[in-house]
Amino acid sequence: MAVAGFREMIDLLEKNGELVRVKKEVDHRFELSAVAKKLEGGPALFFEKVRGYSMPVVVNTDYDRGIIARALGTTNPGLIDHYSLALKSPLDPVKVAGGPVKEVIRTTGINLFRDLPIPVHYEKDGGPYITTGLVVAELPENNIRNVSYQRLQATGEDELRLLIQPRHLWAMYGEREKQGRPLEVAVVIGNDTACRLAGATWGAAMPLGRDEFSIAGALRGRPVDLVRCETIGVWVPAGAEIVIEGEILPGLRLPEGPFAEFTGNYGDPWDNPVIKVKAITHRREAIYHDLLTFSPEHHLLLGLPYEPVVFNTVKALVPGTLAAHVTPASCGKFHAVVQIKKQHQGDGKDAIIAALSSVRDIKLVTVVDADVDPFNPRDVEWAVATRFQADRDLVLISGAKGNELDPSCPSLAVTAKMGLDATKPLDRSHRFDRITIPGYEGIDIKDYIL
Ligand code: MN
Repeated sequence: MAVAGFREMIDLLEKNGELVRVKKEVDHRFELSAVAKKLEGGPALFFEKVRGYSMPVVVNTDYDRGIIARALGTTNPGLIDHYSLALKSPLDPVKVAGGPVKEVIRTTGINLFRDLPIPVHYEKDGGPYITTGLVVAELPENNIRNVSYQRLQATGEDELRLLIQPRHLWAMYGEREKQGRPLEVAVVIGNDTACRLAGATWGAAMPLGRDEFSIAGALRGRPVDLVRCETIGVWVPAGAEIVIEGEILPGLRLPEGPFAEFTGNYGDPWDNPVIKVKAITHRREAIYHDLLTFSPEHHLLLGLPYEPVVFNTVKALVPGTLAAHVTPASCGKFHAVVQIKKQHQGDGKDAIIAALSSVRDIKLVTVVDADVDPFNPRDVEWAVATRFQADRDLVLISGAKGNELDPSCPSLAVTAKMGLDATKPLDRSHRFDRITIPGYEGIDIKDYIL
């Protein structure tokens, strides 16, 4: 059974010893993130006392693949199949009249700095940043809803600034700007794992107009209940902890940043769009949900939603495709490993072509055989060491579209892309047999040593 919501997730983590409570008071500026950094590999942390705030902060709820799989009602080996099925069979959200997120409604006297314990995470961050906010926008006339993650800097009592990369939200904002109108948006904090993953899903399987909440519904096997915002015509999850309602103003760009990005570098300050906040609604005794950028959780949440997209795109071209992994150490974004059962000598190269076409951020694809574990970096490097020859197995493409935040790009988001075909040649495969020891599998080491 999938976990029903954010609070249920916290309860389950705590019951399993995967969440600990921090009773000592912490400062929302650096101290909270420093403690979170120390324990970035887990467990999740529940900061009960944040200096100057009554609202507690939870961080690192999705730090492990197994925890994410369990939250979706599946297991780690089944995660990509589960995700692929959700992408193929979305489950639309349902509109409801009310929900817990409406327990407290504030439309006047809003002060983001006072009302929410938004952490300042890294040394050179431009200020407090909301890092778990799902930005929900709608173009009702085109029946389009979009849910996406953006970095959101609190820059005034009722003002946020956000970086929007040229994807769906950018297109919707552009549409409104042409009309000289603001784009209404809600920022939703305290979401369940399904909504968090769906909001991070994009690429070939998620064209503009595909509602991420319908993917979230399918991921958890139950539709997401949506309630209408108070001051704008946007619908948001009824069970969320906190919703910030507002509009992105047309024709206005103001400095935003720097911000410690998923790359482990500071994203430059840019002149970026501005949200005028109109309302905050939240649960009684709301819990603020935070994410530490450049952490295992961050890279898992970034990389996981790419995996079914890569897998399905490659599988459509190369039938023997077995698995796809976007590696956490590549910032959860830039490097993919594809595992195939080779049926044709050209399968390795075609897997590279397909994987590079599946998600534009990916700039290195390594293709391995069925006897190599794509999730084990040591095994993958072994395959490159023993099955790859650069003059024969390397694919190199110059000047393609990359990620705006990749500091190695020679100019903004222009990148080289590379494929390593580390599969063994079909005709000489006996030379590549892996060494084995008869009886190894049956050995129980407890029978030999205490
Ligand atoms: Mn989208």
